[in-house]
Amino acid sequence: MVPREANIVVIGGGVLGTSTAFHLAAAGHDRIVLLDRGPIAGGTTPFAAGQTSYLPSNERLLPFTSYCLDFFEQFEEKTGYAINFHQNGSLRVALSEQHVPGLHARMEMAKSIGDRAEWLTPQQAHDLVPGLDVSGAKGILLAPRDGFVEPRSVAASYAAGARDRGVTICTRTAVTGIDMADGAVRTVRTAAGNIQTRWVVLAAGAWTRQFSQQLGLNIRTVPVRHQAFVTAPLAGVTERQPVVRIVDTQVYARPEAGGLLVGGYGYRPLSFDMDAFPNRFEIPDLEADQIYYQQLTDAAVQNFPVLQDAGIIQERRGLPTMTPDGQYMVSEVDDIQGLVIVAGCQVGGIWSSPGLGRVAADIISGQESIPAAAFKANRFDEAYAHDAALRTQCEQVYAVHYWDMY
Ligand SMILES: Cc1cc2nc3c(=O)[nH]c(=O)nc-3n(C[C@H](O)[C@H](O)[C@H](O)COP(=O)(O)OP(=O)(O)OC[C@H]3O[C@@H](n4cnc5c(N)ncnc54)[C@H](O)[C@@H]3O)c2cc1C
Repeated sequence: MVPREANIVVIGGGVLGTSTAFHLAAAGHDRIVLLDRGPIAGGTTPFAAGQTSYLPSNERLLPFTSYCLDFFEQFEEKTGYAINFHQNGSLRVALSEQHVPGLHARMEMAKSIGDRAEWLTPQQAHDLVPGLDVSGAKGILLAPRDGFVEPRSVAASYAAGARDRGVTICTRTAVTGIDMADGAVRTVRTAAGNIQTRWVVLAAGAWTRQFSQQLGLNIRTVPVRHQAFVTAPLAGVTERQPVVRIVDTQVYARPEAGGLLVGGYGYRPLSFDMDAFPNRFEIPDLEADQIYYQQLTDAAVQNFPVLQDAGIIQERRGLPTMTPDGQYMVSEVDDIQGLVIVAGCQVGGIWSSPGLGRVAADIISGQESIPAAAFKANRFDEAYAHDAALRTQCEQVYAVHYWDMY
């Protein structure tokens, strides 16, 4: 059974829904119910690489990324639960001149916050990451406060922190609809009963667009498949080595259990209409695109020759949500009072979860502690109103994710 009444209902127990529930409770809200049709972190969240990225290329995002970084650095103090934040730093590598300005923009951000980012030579990069060969690189930026986390533990810790602060968490509870009266949210319908409420936060990941279509909304975000793989242990990989991001080939690699976790953007970008999947589809059912994996491996081998003969022990894939301008989406919607959307994670939802949860909680609290005008759901006006245009643009944004174009 679910509670009959709540002040706020959060739909989705992924990293974005759990962060929102945590931030709402931490802000002093009560009678909050978090619902997921599966377990906590049963969607895309557990398949993430969990990498963090605190230096944006655009000054406008600095307050947001600073909040996320502070939160990750103090995760236990804030939530009561420790996560293992491997703050190994990251290397952002430009192989061609074309991508050097993007690195300079990030260096400027670093200077503006008094951060110790530095330029490295290819040899220094190799010394930090012995399997890495970027001998011809035109620029290598070390961001020392980046790192990675185990993504499921992040959602689990938010959920635990939320529960400690009074949030009711109902898993295995699918939301089947939302009833409205006078243009405002009134009732959340679930398989286990209805909940009367004035606020609903929709953080249903890949299902957000599909769910909101039932409410007559056209939310401009679509799920795009993203894939990665983990190798068997490799000689020379150390647990302390930084995350590596090669901008040109859009490949990333970080240590995982003695091997490398490798992923990348731009390889066969493909968005989905969730209605095309069977009703019972879940993220682990997502089929592998082997051509994507092959293209990714071919690209990664250029700078990680050690991957040539690496055994693959795990494939990871999921459906993060993209928007047409590459920006997050956290806001109320124009036509339904009391409905807040948290979506458009841009394949960065683990990292951005503190900020996105905070912005969602701020909206319900009637305040703005992090500037969030750029995240409004209605910012596209009439653009991308048709599915084909929306999906094409979101695939395009995904395809150039590392190139600082949006
Ligand atoms: C291979 C890969 C690598 C990645 N690497 C990184 C990375 O390095 N750094 C990073 O920050 N991000 C990364 N990501 C992205 C990250 O995984 C996502 O941004 C994040 O998990 C999105 O979280 P979410 O809460 O929006 O979605 P989800 O985790 O999918 O959660 C949505 C939840 O909503 C629930 N739900 C849906 N419909 C209903 C309903 N009707 N009723 C009840 N519940 C419902 C689902 O069951 C699900 O649990 C990566 C993703 C992948 C796939």
